[in-house]
Amino acid sequence: MALDCQVSHFRAFATLPLSREIMRLRLEFLPALLLPVVVFAQTPARPAEVQQFVSVEASVTALTHVRVIDGTGAPARDGQTVVLDHGIIKAVGDSAHVAIPADAKVLDLAGRTVMPGMVMVHEHMFYPSGGGSVYNEQAFSFPRLYLAGGVTTARTAGNMAGYADLELKRAIDSGLTVGPSLDVTAPYLNGPGLPIYQVHALSGPADATQMVNHWADRGATSFKAYMHITRDELRAAVVAAHKRKLKITGHLCSVSFREAATLGIDNLEHGLVVASDFVKDKKADTCPPGGVIPSIAAVDVTGPDVQSLIKFLIAKKVALTSTLTVFETFTPGRPQAAKGAVDAMLPEARDQYIRRWTQISAQTTSPYASVFPKEMQFELAFYRAGGQLLAGTDPTGYGGVVAGYANQRELELLVEAGLTPLEAIKVVTLDGARYLGRANRVGSIAVGKRADLIVIKGDPSSRIADIENIETVFKDGLGYDSVKLFASVKGQVGLH
Ligand SMILES: [Zn+2]
Repeated sequence: MALDCQVSHFRAFATLPLSREIMRLRLEFLPALLLPVVVFAQTPARPAEVQQFVSVEASVTALTHVRVIDGTGAPARDGQTVVLDHGIIKAVGDSAHVAIPADAKVLDLAGRTVMPGMVMVHEHMFYPSGGGSVYNEQAFSFPRLYLAGGVTTARTAGNMAGYADLELKRAIDSGLTVGPSLDVTAPYLNGPGLPIYQVHALSGPADATQMVNHWADRGATSFKAYMHITRDELRAAVVAAHKRKLKITGHLCSVSFREAATLGIDNLEHGLVVASDFVKDKKADTCPPGGVIPSIAAVDVTGPDVQSLIKFLIAKKVALTSTLTVFETFTPGRPQAAKGAVDAMLPEARDQYIRRWTQISAQTTSPYASVFPKEMQFELAFYRAGGQLLAGTDPTGYGGVVAGYANQRELELLVEAGLTPLEAIKVVTLDGARYLGRANRVGSIAVGKRADLIVIKGDPSSRIADIENIETVFKDGLGYDSVKLFASVKGQVGLH
């Protein structure tokens, strides 16, 4: 232990401060320092920040006697061996037939299941500060929590902190810190009317085009339209994003689902709960002053209006993102967040959360009592009709949605909604990867794909709650200790 510690501290010292120093010096003495730079580049060492969580480290690793859920929806297979070679899945098959390379580190995983790392598309690196008008960036705690919870790829689905998610992505990709591979969404595309100081108010379609190009130039790979965008601005944003072969989603209100699908949007967030299609006398380009919830409380999911919307969205190839986790927090009679999630909160954030949760639990006339089950019904109907259902958690609301823990909860809620465990697992793995255009690299356990996978004690294909028992998360073939990652940010969510 002591030796490991010294070694990793030494590594961190040897690489980080020195390489920064060299970067600085390079500007002045580039030719003289070229040789040392090359030498350092050839001996990559991991900073202590990352190394402290690494529990499995080998060029070649063989996971033996394990149950495999491959993410394609195929039944779980017992008694399998998975070989990971330099970060890539090299072999998968019956333990009796897969040859284990002589140099492999062998992990006997009897009683365990492996499934692909989750690919979730409505994640954020921010968390509500409590006042409703500011969201604090959680670039320290959330990447660790997402990875701990089994998320190896995440779309940030709207960001409140400009460059922060982009710089975080660079830090993760270069191995300076831990976290999922990110699909970074640009700051929100929204019109005036939102009481959040971090969101720019568009001045018209030209501004929307300019904003898409500005953030795409800086590395954003996805976009999100928000509640007060106009149809003209949305049209301009869709055209600009598609011109660059990038996708755009929306949490809409001023524009209806049908209008957005007609304008070519790729994805809609949250589902029926935010659709303004059923508000009587809705004014164009305006988010109804009374919100959309009363109209949803009155709608019949099996009726012709909703069914025709489902057909239309599927015909237009619009994906739908389930975020049941955030709506559960508004619904009376639902359980509190997982104990680990509550313990992860900063004490002040925890107090606010518990107080609000207790108030909601006592409500007797909340529309969410009928709207939440309707949302589940809508998502199931969309999925069964052949729609492309994706999933995320949306860590907003009043703080009950904590990264990592919530991703596991979302999986449980998809099953409660009526998907089979294998279907729900496919939604949060291969289907997410397909939408993000990454299915050739991640999203399922298949030879040639990146070694991003989760080791779970138990069998989530028969008991979905077993997803809460993750032991190890492999990303690029490196195993991280899930329990250690979770424990490292106890009491810190809401702070940073
Ligand atoms: Zn969100």
